[in-house]
Amino acid sequence: MIGIFGGTFDPVHFGHLRPALELFEILELEELRLVPAGTPPHRRPPRANSAQRLQMLRLAIAGQPGFVLDEREIERSGPSYMVDTLAELRSELGGQRPLCLLLGMDAFLGLTSWHRWEEIPRLAHLVVSHRPGWLPEHLDDHGGPLAELADGSMVEEPRQLADAPGGYIFMHPVTQLDISSTRIRALIRNGRNPRYLLPDGVWNHIREQGLYR
Ligand code: ATP
Repeated sequence: MIGIFGGTFDPVHFGHLRPALELFEILELEELRLVPAGTPPHRRPPRANSAQRLQMLRLAIAGQPGFVLDEREIERSGPSYMVDTLAELRSELGGQRPLCLLLGMDAFLGLTSWHRWEEIPRLAHLVVSHRPGWLPEHLDDHGGPLAELADGSMVEEPRQLADAPGGYIFMHPVTQLDISSTRIRALIRNGRNPRYLLPDGVWNHIREQGLYR
């Protein structure tokens, strides 16, 4: 099984990396692809350019077996849509290989605003990480298309994901780290030290390049 973890990574931090590693292990993934967005459709352009964000990711995952940087959204022109990324991966990897799209609960709850979102669950499983104690039943409170999507496609055990190329939803608690790229950028802008929120190699690179000041 291959995992896909998209984001702006402006900069990458431990709030991305620790949950990613926990899911990598629990899902027994062969590979986790980190996919930095080129032109994110939902938000302002990143502060660091693509080459800088790629370099920070390279430093962050160096030496972590199974973690792979996937540059396709940066190389593609136009807005970065996850549905295009998944469709490309599906055609490269064949129809049978299970793909798992890793999403935080916040991203999952916003899924219906994504470009051609209905195609996404057909292309991959959705692996939704959440706070310990959060119950999937809470999803019913949101009602609508997401509750409908979850109804009947939720699986309890990660190994069930290996039985199909996509279409299942698996929810799993991960260690909560209240870290965001926005806050790290604000700390740096204000001359404060973001150390211990992100890998030292990434922080050193930010300093050397004078990023986010
Ligand atoms: P920004 O503050 O610039 O919005 P961010 O820190 O939220 O950035 P993104 O690169 O936008 O980071 O996030 C990519 C993915 O990582 C999203 O699915 C998001 O839910 C998840 N994520 C980001 N921060 C955390 C965190 N602290 N814990 C768990 N998941 C996170």
